Amino acid sequence: MELLSIDPLHPDAAAIAHAAELLRAGRLVAFPTETVYGLGANALDARAVERIYAAKGRPAYNPLIVHVASAESVSSVATEWPERAARLADAFWPGPLTMVLPKRGVVPDGVTAGLPSVAVRVPSHPVAHALLAAAQIPVAAPSANRSMMLSPTTGRHVARSLGDAVDLILDAGPTTVGIESTVVDLTSAEPVLLRPGTISLVQLEAVLGPVRRVSASSSDAARPSPGMLDRHYSPRAALFIASTAEVARQCANVQARGQRAGALVIDAPAPTAAITIRLARDAGEYASGLYAALHDLDDAGCDAIIVEQVPDGPAWLGVRDRLARAARSGGESGGGHR
Ligand code: AMP
Ligand code: MG
Repeated sequence: MELLSIDPLHPDAAAIAHAAELLRAGRLVAFPTETVYGLGANALDARAVERIYAAKGRPAYNPLIVHVASAESVSSVATEWPERAARLADAFWPGPLTMVLPKRGVVPDGVTAGLPSVAVRVPSHPVAHALLAAAQIPVAAPSANRSMMLSPTTGRHVARSLGDAVDLILDAGPTTVGIESTVVDLTSAEPVLLRPGTISLVQLEAVLGPVRRVSASSSDAARPSPGMLDRHYSPRAALFIASTAEVARQCANVQARGQRAGALVIDAPAPTAAITIRLARDAGEYASGLYAALHDLDDAGCDAIIVEQVPDGPAWLGVRDRLARAARSGGESGGGHR
């Protein structure tokens, strides 16, 4: 595995050309986007895409997001560009929004997990943009981590999770948005929010009108996207969500079992003897710091992480979704072991 440090704002042209060449040759390149680091492969090369699944240990039923340099390039992978897609692109691209559209035949089944649709996004990170522009191919890129684990927000996270399974890592330091893109399905009459992110339902509805929400926690509803039910985005430590008042007691429970407790708080006082990370009461800032905080608490050897409940507002939907998926189901930290 090769690791190249690259300036996040003014990426070195030779490094970009090298990475683009590897992608065109069917190799795997991890690169920063504004959301998390992606593990990229030529989206039109079935064997290259197969390598993504192998490197991540990702189940074949979980489709990938295809990254392109501009809205004009969407036509290389999708058969339609509806007017509402154009409006969304005007409002949010380049940026952390993924649209699901009917796919072209040239897109291998491996990219879409056999679905007749393809997920596409134009990222805003200067390194991602430069790479896509230089490669001149659509690039399939899920998060650059082993399947089910925490997404990487630094090059170091990628190196630790994937090691030699990736050919090149472009390391541009921490990403800014910090959680995965908002995913909206435009293949049916009514747009559907498949995955919340930092672009909120309110912002989407301002452009699209009513958007249906598929709740990750509503158990039995049919899911258009197979990846959605999975336990996902998890630290190694067991993660529990607690009210502000309960954080300290739950940490004490963990310690009473002789285990190491970590706490991720907003307003709660730092619990005694727990390793505590504090994030701001601002949805954007919180999202930006969330995965790095969980990686750090894992690295510190925490057995359990007690996360102070986040606010209820629409801006926090993406963060709440990731925390709910990372959390140990079945309540509080007094419960079972992993
Ligand atoms: P990740 O690569 O971990 O960011 O996950 C990509 C996610 O995008 C998947 O888990 C799905 O939720 C969504 N996705 C990708 N392609 C499609 C598709 N064709 N239809 C619906 N959802 C998709
Ligand atoms: Mg992922």
